[in-house]
Amino acid sequence: NASLEVADSEVFSIIEKELKRQTNHLEMIASENFTSPAVMQAMGSVFTNKYAEGYPYKRYYSGCEEADAVEQLAIERVCKIFGCAYANVQPHSGSQANAAVYAALLQAGDRILGMNLSDGGHLTHGSKPSFSGKNYSAFYYGVELDGRINYDKVLEIAKITQPKIIVCGASAYAREIDFKKFKEIADEVGAILFADIAHVAGLVAAKEHMSPFPYADVVTTTTHKTLRGPRGGVIMTNDEEIAKKINSAIFPGIQGGPLVHIIAAKAVAFKEVLDSSWREYAKQVKANAKVLERVLLERGFELVSGGTDNHLVLVSFLDKPFSGKDADTALADAGITVNKNTVPGEKRTPFITSGIRIGSPALTARGMREKEFEFIANKICDVLDNIEDKVLHAKINKELEELAGNFVIYNQSTY
Ligand code: PLP
Repeated sequence: NASLEVADSEVFSIIEKELKRQTNHLEMIASENFTSPAVMQAMGSVFTNKYAEGYPYKRYYSGCEEADAVEQLAIERVCKIFGCAYANVQPHSGSQANAAVYAALLQAGDRILGMNLSDGGHLTHGSKPSFSGKNYSAFYYGVELDGRINYDKVLEIAKITQPKIIVCGASAYAREIDFKKFKEIADEVGAILFADIAHVAGLVAAKEHMSPFPYADVVTTTTHKTLRGPRGGVIMTNDEEIAKKINSAIFPGIQGGPLVHIIAAKAVAFKEVLDSSWREYAKQVKANAKVLERVLLERGFELVSGGTDNHLVLVSFLDKPFSGKDADTALADAGITVNKNTVPGEKRTPFITSGIRIGSPALTARGMREKEFEFIANKICDVLDNIEDKVLHAKINKELEELAGNFVIYNQSTY
């Protein structure tokens, strides 16, 4: 029963360094967040020892009474959050959830229509290097030069390509996605509507983003982005037949034993989302993103689509001599973690890019509000205005480390 520190000092020390990195840096990758110590405690629980193939009360192993109880709780809570009838909480990740949707509803070679990776879609929405682009015949819609989805154009492409599934949802899109319009398009061409709300799920839960229900036939999300839970995925639907197919697609289709410890942690995270304080968090996430929008625009930077409706902004450097990669590196030197991103009308390669994506969820979870975001946004602009000034980057790094120190995430005993 030795502690990690005693049992494996090497791993312990790496984890300690990671905690320090997360504490001292400003995490502004739009897909990242900080879970609560309670979520982490459930993740590190004895449920990691348990095999529970199957579903609650229909298992292939004995001794699953408590696994049944915790999975059932997670299902009931997530159905309550999103207002749906059926949920599968077993997907190991968002990509696994999406793989199961396709496996449940498509045959190999069937047509899907999703958002282009370079315009903000996810790899699993039909991108060529992903199973979704390899196993299915994928077609794409994108954004216009104004950075927005043109729904008339999506309909036009859907009419020509006649997909069996239309995927809506994105990894890098700063505007609200209109699920109602997508449903009208899907209905017009007889397609199934699949909404992947991985990025905005925490906002949807707080009614701070349009809900995919009742429009989408099937919905997936990750649990670790704006939802602030453990890494994992969920699939939801109101259709009993689809629910049955999804369950078979996850197990025994593409997964074996569920990660019961992660399911327990999902249940804890869902309880947090159901708490009345969640609405305040989601509102603050959006308010903080609006501060980023305002300061960046005031300081002369170009934002894709001109601003944001959600938790992220996309900054375009199409007209600048430096790239998204240069900006990413300079900001990292200043203690701010973002990621480079392609932008509409991209002229550089996907590895270099002409943009960055900046998100507000993680720093909002640390308790930062408009005042701190105003300060940070100005520091971001200072770095971008002086992209080669390494001395300035180091100076800003010091200032931001001091700010970060005032917003403790975890105390030493958490991990
Ligand atoms: N769907 C969207 C829209 C995403 O942004 C992501 C992750 O970035 C995923 C799915 C995949 O999630 P995971 O990384 O857990 O496989």
